[in-house]
Amino acid sequence: MARCVVARRLHFNAAHRLHNPARSDEWNRETFGPCNNPNYHGHNYELDILVEGDIDPDTGYVVDVAILKQLAEAAIVAHLDHKNLNLDVPWFRNRLPSAENIAVFCWEQLAPRIPRGRLARIRLWETPRNYVDYEGK
Ligand SMILES: [Zn+2]
Repeated sequence: MARCVVARRLHFNAAHRLHNPARSDEWNRETFGPCNNPNYHGHNYELDILVEGDIDPDTGYVVDVAILKQLAEAAIVAHLDHKNLNLDVPWFRNRLPSAENIAVFCWEQLAPRIPRGRLARIRLWETPRNYVDYEGK
């Protein structure tokens, strides 16, 4: 049975601030730079969802990407798009909303809902030049 990886890209905008309250203001400024801005700032995130599995002989699909899109919109985008991640999303109450942690959030939301195959990777682009990969480990 042939195996493939199917991918879907989604988009959301969100605001955040990287600030560790256990450390000094100076440490936070030095560590996080512009992402420590006290009044938050936004990113245009691109999210790639990769699902791996056997090709279904009945459909020729690994997974129907239209269904994948609907699931990801409901499980991820609805919670993050046009939100302040620090203030609006309870999952980040005790976690820094870094690209790494946002990728873990996306994985936890989506992995149990994949109808066919398995979630192989989350790739989250925070800028056109910076991305984070998470594979559930
Ligand atoms: Zn930032």
